[in-house]
Amino acid sequence: MSTAKPTVTPMMAQFLEIKQSYPDALLFYRMGDFYELFFDDAVAASEALDIALTKRGKHEGSEIPMCGVPHHAAEGYLLTLIRKGFRVAVCEQMESPAEAKKRGGKSVVRRDVVRLVTPGTLTEESLLDARRHNYLAAYADVRGDGALAWADMSTGAFHVMSLNAVRLSPELARLAPSEVILSDTTEPETLKLVSETGASISPLSPGAFDSTQGIKRICDVFQIASLDAFGEFTRPEISAMSALIEYLEITQKGKLPLLRPPQKESSGGTMQIDAATRRNLELTQSLSGTRKDTLLSVIDRSVTAGGGRLLERRLSSPSRDLATIHARLYAVAWFHENTRVTEELRKTLRKVPDLDRALSRISLERGGPRDIAAIRNGLEQAEAIQATNFEGAPDLITQNTHALRGHDDLITLLNDALIAEPPVLARDGGYIATGFDDELDETRALRDEGRSVIAKMQAQYSELSGINALKIKHNNVLGYFIETTATHAEKMLAAPLNETFIHRQTTANQVRFTTVDLSEIETKILNARDRALEIEKRHFQTLTREIVAKAPEISNTARALAEIDLSASLAALARAEDWSKPKVDNSRMFHVTGGRHPVVEQALRNQGSTPFIANNCDLSDGSDGASIWLLTGPNMAGKSTFLRQNALIAVLAQMGSFVPASDAHIGIVSQLFSRVGASDDLARGRSTFMVEMVETAAILNQADENALVILDEIGRGTATYDGLSIAWATLEHLHDVNKSRALFATHYHELTNLTAKLAGAENATVSVREWEGDVIFLHEVIKGAADRSYGVQVAKLAGLPAAVVERARIVLDALEKGEREGGGQKAVIDDLPLFSATPPPPPIQTKQSPAVDMLKDIHPDDLSPKEALNLIYKLKEAS
Ligand code: ADP
Repeated sequence: MSTAKPTVTPMMAQFLEIKQSYPDALLFYRMGDFYELFFDDAVAASEALDIALTKRGKHEGSEIPMCGVPHHAAEGYLLTLIRKGFRVAVCEQMESPAEAKKRGGKSVVRRDVVRLVTPGTLTEESLLDARRHNYLAAYADVRGDGALAWADMSTGAFHVMSLNAVRLSPELARLAPSEVILSDTTEPETLKLVSETGASISPLSPGAFDSTQGIKRICDVFQIASLDAFGEFTRPEISAMSALIEYLEITQKGKLPLLRPPQKESSGGTMQIDAATRRNLELTQSLSGTRKDTLLSVIDRSVTAGGGRLLERRLSSPSRDLATIHARLYAVAWFHENTRVTEELRKTLRKVPDLDRALSRISLERGGPRDIAAIRNGLEQAEAIQATNFEGAPDLITQNTHALRGHDDLITLLNDALIAEPPVLARDGGYIATGFDDELDETRALRDEGRSVIAKMQAQYSELSGINALKIKHNNVLGYFIETTATHAEKMLAAPLNETFIHRQTTANQVRFTTVDLSEIETKILNARDRALEIEKRHFQTLTREIVAKAPEISNTARALAEIDLSASLAALARAEDWSKPKVDNSRMFHVTGGRHPVVEQALRNQGSTPFIANNCDLSDGSDGASIWLLTGPNMAGKSTFLRQNALIAVLAQMGSFVPASDAHIGIVSQLFSRVGASDDLARGRSTFMVEMVETAAILNQADENALVILDEIGRGTATYDGLSIAWATLEHLHDVNKSRALFATHYHELTNLTAKLAGAENATVSVREWEGDVIFLHEVIKGAADRSYGVQVAKLAGLPAAVVERARIVLDALEKGEREGGGQKAVIDDLPLFSATPPPPPIQTKQSPAVDMLKDIHPDDLSPKEALNLIYKLKEAS
């Protein structure tokens, strides 16, 4: 876009100048009640929003494309644009047209960008998912040492972690940020890695990552003299935090959100789960990318938004710290035992609004009266919860209940100041309670009095003029006016009434007047109204200031409420679903009795199918070596379900939840790996087999003796012997080198012989029963190897044409026979009879009824009705 030329209008000159600073964003240029977009922005937005593209004036000889969205509906349009990958610079009018005029001449209204809206910097309720964090992350690399900082601007959460490039991908998979800030100079490989996560990438100049500048930037934001106040940070950590803060400053135009002091995380504190494993286990996102049918959706019984977000966070990062896991489990267990308290508590929690997000909007000066009410109501409920009888509760609960206190003064202030259900916007006033401010009450009385005086005036003027049809009305252009029909107007326009009534406007059917008294009252009303609005605004500012001053305490309360909600909701879940408290320790046990897959179990229940069959899993035997179950069994028997359910049980136990099993003993799992053979990954443009091998390699290179490894049909993606060999070697490596606890499902029956050679490996199978050539799945996992794969039977169940099923049986028999007799495949195939698409005749000829024989000789067209009736009697006798 070119710079302003002298020929352009002053407004266009202003637009072009502002636009120059935001080349990568759509500029929402405020004009009265609309945000207008021009030039290429207009073309892109009109297409993305499906709104009309118009024109406005000319620039350098060509027409200027334009489109616009109404100011009051802007949020919805913003959301669409952000979802479609745009960023939007919101440019507001910084003064009224009257003020601009005062400045003289042809001054255009002063405008400025007040905010750059990007995926990671949203705060509006309508733009966010209440139950999901919305993280903005920054990755810094200082000479090969990396760090990731991330913040949720809508809640103030702020974290940082050192990591090397290898850990970047799994950490991004865990956090799922919507936007990642990278330096302009980032290596293409890192760039690729980040873009694969689907996050929007925002480049910043290397200067933003400068760690020396960064220390000052961070200290300024938190108003501390030295960064040591928050602990020790490495240079990459400071660099990443600094870039993040710089980006917030750029997008929020200096108005910084309330950030909590940065919390340092270490990757050693959580169970390491890489992106492929997360995808595969469908923890928080299903394979189709939604929340539906995920573990999260099935276990979420939280009743507050904060609790919901905490659950998502915990599930994404199960702990590895025994004390942390125990503390959480004790809290859940206490709620589990104290059912009545829990139920009451959950009723109160339901009334807790989203404190974090209301607080964040208020601190960014984007809050309205309803956000203030949310703070008040939330704190009030916190007080109520604090009064609950938590006798005998474990530390985690009591610590949190302490954080619910201490807001009496603020609650009293907000209660006195605010009406019960205030409006969303402060603009129109009406939210400050009566009795809070005498001056406000008086001004409002004056305003309302004026209104009642006007109501009385109508009667007086009717009487004075003798016109009954006279009305006093109001509109935004004229304000208050007296209206009569044209016929009556004559009288009012003539003496003596014209001394009182002053003509203002004549419309098609009506004539409008005013009077000196009416104007006076109106001025009074207007003045009173403006004054009342001003007073309310002043109070609004005081209230938000008071809230912001208490932000850290409110934030702590919000955190405590979320924690209490989460523990209580996990207890409610455990009760409803009959889950039990796992025993977690630092051993290498993995012993699950009666384990279930919560998502499959729920699906079966919803379908009204047969109930889920619980299964045991014991990988605890080889205490100083590997412990592997080699699982065989036909397709559809339940192998994948069994594998995944055990991984989920480990995740649940370590996030501090009860587990879907009658009993579980879990030695802490440091890394969790789950792979499915030949899963499609076309999005990344690799062949399926390649993906399978890359992922398997990652496991074999990383898994240690505390890892839990789940391998489902590895080797499936290539030719039989290749696949078998790879599966074979993988199993041996896992056993001898990684020494991990592992579940290995395979359809290569040949592998079952391997268990004889590997001390820590055992065969297990999902049992089936054969019944008249069909297979019945029992879904029961038992020790031992499957005798055969029942592939043909499963194919029959799937509805393969009968001729194909029959042919497959013949080929299978021949192949098996060839193998037994050592004839080789080629010979077997040569000997096979030719394929025939005609289905084979029914195996057994049933004896036919004589009635059928009789029917063969009958010609219906030759029968009279009487003969037909007689025939029916005869047939009945014969049948
Ligand atoms: P496989 O991996 O052996 O092909 P899956 O684990 O995909 O089999 O299971 C196939 C189907 O069998 C599941 O969708 C589910 O409906 C059912 N199923 C699996 N495990 C169980 C179980 N333990 N109890 C009841 N039904 C089960």
